[in-house]
Amino acid sequence: MTARILVVDDIPANVKLLEARLLAEYFDVLTADDGYKALAICDSTHVDLILLDIMMPGIDGFEVCERLKANPKTAHIPVVMVTALDQPSDRVRGLKAGADDFLTKPVNDIQLISRVRSLVRLKALSDELRIRADTAHSLVLEDMLKSVDGRDDSGQVLLVDGRASSQERIIKALKPICNVVAISDPQAALFEAAESAWDLVIVNANFEDYDPLRLCSQLRSLERTRFLPILLATEAGAEDMVVRALDLGVNDYIMRPIDPNELLARTLTQVKRKRYNDRLRMSVKQTIELAVTDGLTGLNNRRYLDNHLKVLFTRATVRARPLSICLIDIDRFKSVNDTYGHDAGDDVLREFASRIRSTVRGADLACRYGGEEFVVIMPDTDATAAAAVAERLRAIIEETPFMLKSAATALNLTASFGLSCTTGGAETPEQLLKQADQALYTAKAEGRNRVVANAA
Ligand code: GH3
Ligand code: MG
Ligand code: MG
Repeated sequence: MTARILVVDDIPANVKLLEARLLAEYFDVLTADDGYKALAICDSTHVDLILLDIMMPGIDGFEVCERLKANPKTAHIPVVMVTALDQPSDRVRGLKAGADDFLTKPVNDIQLISRVRSLVRLKALSDELRIRADTAHSLVLEDMLKSVDGRDDSGQVLLVDGRASSQERIIKALKPICNVVAISDPQAALFEAAESAWDLVIVNANFEDYDPLRLCSQLRSLERTRFLPILLATEAGAEDMVVRALDLGVNDYIMRPIDPNELLARTLTQVKRKRYNDRLRMSVKQTIELAVTDGLTGLNNRRYLDNHLKVLFTRATVRARPLSICLIDIDRFKSVNDTYGHDAGDDVLREFASRIRSTVRGADLACRYGGEEFVVIMPDTDATAAAAVAERLRAIIEETPFMLKSAATALNLTASFGLSCTTGGAETPEQLLKQADQALYTAKAEGRNRVVANAA
């Protein structure tokens, strides 16, 4: 995966060194020698990840990071702080500023490349979700996401840890921000992870004779836990394990002895990111629903019908089962608008749709086809059964007047129905629709308020 990395450091030799290593891995590299330039680059071009020095004249790395995270345009770019000061207090300060990770100078090659790759991969996932969500009402979305950040209720954390003493220490450290449930048996933990809604799994690599990476890999492959963040705690210096873990898709790691503040900050970061992505995923789902739903009546729209009719038609053909469709058009609807106004017309359409919905079976698909035209697709239904459904609906329309809220009056209405069935010889969904349309035309021509089946 290629990505564009911004290297920020005031010492040219450091910039050159990191640049060379990244270029050797085919990353695209941009450089800046102070914080202001870095901010300007991020604001004006696409950047996938930032390697940020902390000690710089002008504004230091902490402040650059804070500013990036405060700007909605740049908040989602992962920031890795590169520092000579390997002090836990600096790490915590960096995490509070919003940094996603740390590297210590002199930078270890394997760590550099594996961390960069893993963060770039995560960002690509978030980016894709965000692009899809953008098609939704982005303002609504931003509000929604902000509100999540604002009222962060406690995270639900599953701790998998082979030792009672360290379980206690971790639970105590996370108490201010999370509910932690601890499990000693890794296999039981896998079931538990899939069973309930967790925000994070912390795997403490301290089992007698069990490879913790096996659990990490199983968590990544199960559908229910695929997106669940994993934080791995390892022995200091267990770099091989860390590299393999990040390759497996583990999101973050922490080395023992665990500094409670660092653990707290890393946990908070993972929980926040998980919730952010959950929101994005939900919004993508809502966008898809919006795209196939008619706003006025809540029925499926024509776009959905056209696609779904193809699917149902093919299935009916393969299974040699009949498929019927019914086209419905309100009679003299224009005069409702002309007499009572457009809002009254909308009331009628909503009520009409709701009568269709409550009359057809669950397996039938009702759609608003256009202005005052509706379609019902009836799988597994022959022409006789379809005619009975249409006749029942026709009577329900005719016999019960429509209440017009906006005009405080009741209105008698009728509708015309055109039917066609695959047993009539249609070879494509388009032909089937055309036959129903011809039948509807006949129903109108013969005086309206009636059901006509295409005899084709
Ligand atoms: P016919 O019996 O031949 O079907 O006559 P009609 O008046 O129902 O048919 P026509 O196609 O002439 O008119 C349909 C009207 O439906 C015209 C249009 O203004 C109205 N219409 C279409 N969409 C909407 C809508 O969303 N809301 C409202 N209020 N009216 C709509
Ligand atoms: Mg009409
Ligand atoms: Mg019409």
